[in-house]
Amino acid sequence: MVLEKARQPLVLRDVPKPKPKAGQLLVRVSACAVCRTDLHIVDGELLNPKLPLILGHQIVGRVEKIGEGPAPESADRTSEFKIGDRIGIPWLGWTDSDCVYCRSNRENLCDRARFTGYTIDGGYGEFVVIDARFCFRLPEQYNDVDLAPLLCAGMLGYRSYRKTGDARRLGIYGFGNAARLIAQVALYQGREVFAFTRPSDKAGQEAAKKLGAKWAGGSDDMPPEKLDGAIIFAPVGQLVPVALRSLAKGGIVVCGGIHMSDIPSFPYADLWEERTICSVANLTRRDGEEFLEIAPRVPVRTETEIFPLEEANTALNRFRSGQLNGTAVLMPPR
Ligand SMILES: [Zn+2]
Ligand SMILES: [Zn+2]
Repeated sequence: MVLEKARQPLVLRDVPKPKPKAGQLLVRVSACAVCRTDLHIVDGELLNPKLPLILGHQIVGRVEKIGEGPAPESADRTSEFKIGDRIGIPWLGWTDSDCVYCRSNRENLCDRARFTGYTIDGGYGEFVVIDARFCFRLPEQYNDVDLAPLLCAGMLGYRSYRKTGDARRLGIYGFGNAARLIAQVALYQGREVFAFTRPSDKAGQEAAKKLGAKWAGGSDDMPPEKLDGAIIFAPVGQLVPVALRSLAKGGIVVCGGIHMSDIPSFPYADLWEERTICSVANLTRRDGEEFLEIAPRVPVRTETEIFPLEEANTALNRFRSGQLNGTAVLMPPR
């Protein structure tokens, strides 16, 4: 399924099977989860995607072919994989390993980074080619469909969660896929979770409580206790000052999304006493490895709705209008 232009439906196309170069793997896609970022790209809110583009950056698949020859980058990892291995492919698709960010363990901020399903082709297709250095080995306990949402919602959620440090009382604004995954990790680690949904979303609040949240309410409610940290997954800038006011001294608000509407102004007193606001951009391979190590121990459970690949537009439309009961996962024809 190919995006030819922003704000247009994806189109079904027969494209040639991509060829892996040295250092790359050709992977047969078995499942690809849909992420909110995909919507931001389709809706033209993320600028300058590769066009035409195959979306998708939460990919589970099997190695079909290994690129031959010496890889241009020094750390070629193709030798670690063999044909048939199950691997996971995330958002971070390539870095230069060389800029000031890469050399200081911040490859997520690499100046020349390329992203799967945004600036390189992704997993809304039958095959994808990736740089072997950026894919993950996957825990065996999970099937392909359940693994797919862990590869962005889970990993990016985990990076957001880690930014809250040792916050004991953790607020989560926007209780969608990423929130549900990371709330399970937080509860496993003994944190108290306070869930904020759309004010009228009683079903969402009930679901959060069932998952183990200590409190659940609307995003316009104040939590019963001051929070040590809050993660905002909803792409709504107005929530930033709201979350800030719910924090105890020294607390942190982490904006976990790639796109957000403008943040309204707020009094300095709300930031005073060493409160912090920060964003999370992309992921490092270490975030992914840590999350995949902890997820089966929790164990983190995913809720999914399966769509055939050619119904990607339906999945995107239903995601946009909030009509999904789990993460949409696309499956190519067998
Ligand atoms: Zn994503
Ligand atoms: Zn770099």
